[in-house]
Amino acid sequence: MPNLRLSFPWFDRRAFPVLAAVVAGLYLLEEVFTLREQHHGKAGRTVTNTAVAASGFTVARLLLLPIMVYAGEWADRRRFGLIQWLPLPRWARYAAGALLLDYTNYRWHTLTHRVSFLYRFHRVHHSDLDMDVTTGFRFHLGEQVFSIVYRGGMIALIGAPADLVLSYEAVFEGCTAFHHSNLRLPEAVENILARVMITPRAHGIHHSIVREEFDANYGVVFDFWDRLHGTHRMDVPQEAITIGLPAWRDPEELTVLKLHTMPADDIRPWALPDGTVPTRRVTVPQVWPS
Ligand SMILES: [Zn+2]
Repeated sequence: MPNLRLSFPWFDRRAFPVLAAVVAGLYLLEEVFTLREQHHGKAGRTVTNTAVAASGFTVARLLLLPIMVYAGEWADRRRFGLIQWLPLPRWARYAAGALLLDYTNYRWHTLTHRVSFLYRFHRVHHSDLDMDVTTGFRFHLGEQVFSIVYRGGMIALIGAPADLVLSYEAVFEGCTAFHHSNLRLPEAVENILARVMITPRAHGIHHSIVREEFDANYGVVFDFWDRLHGTHRMDVPQEAITIGLPAWRDPEELTVLKLHTMPADDIRPWALPDGTVPTRRVTVPQVWPS
């Protein structure tokens, strides 16, 4: 059993308070500059998403992060991994490492949509009926657990040193909060950002109940990977998007307890409760009649 380090003073004392301030700022700002109209009560969703995040966050901080750092230290000690072998200056190896880490997270996200076992967990995240900054933390602890092997393995293959792993992780968390937020940026600003990174508009399309839109904009920080693989799209107006999963429209099925047991539920066909397959041409009620 590797000797895992659990204390990361820079991450916990410097990055974490900044991230908490970013989340709090986005939470307030999205109330003032609102991108998509909300239909399901922010207070209740905040409680639900925080409760789901609590168990997921515990796993992420006590297991995922220490193992990712361990993988980075292991690779660095042995001079193992792609960027360790590159005959480049240190800054260039770090830049390449950050890009590769982001690419592997793009790939992981596509796997959580395409591998049905992983999708069972990832659908907890997508089942939120509205999307805001709190959705960015609604990840089932199982998804965090199964990402450990993948993310740890990729860090070792890339040869990303521990300090790069921790700094990328801070950026990863900040960008996750940002692109899930319901923040309406001035269009000119968003258009500039959308040339390189995943923005709230881009990720709003990813949370659509229309299948082809749900399978788009998988990126975390940069959007190059979506452009490279043909999964990038920005052609859906935010007011036309219904957020969530088509087969899970009833808030009663999305309580904290039911979200924790959701991975064990059957995978339902990609259709609304009445059997209709949502497309851009089908008008879907934002609140499903009970
Ligand atoms: Zn997704």
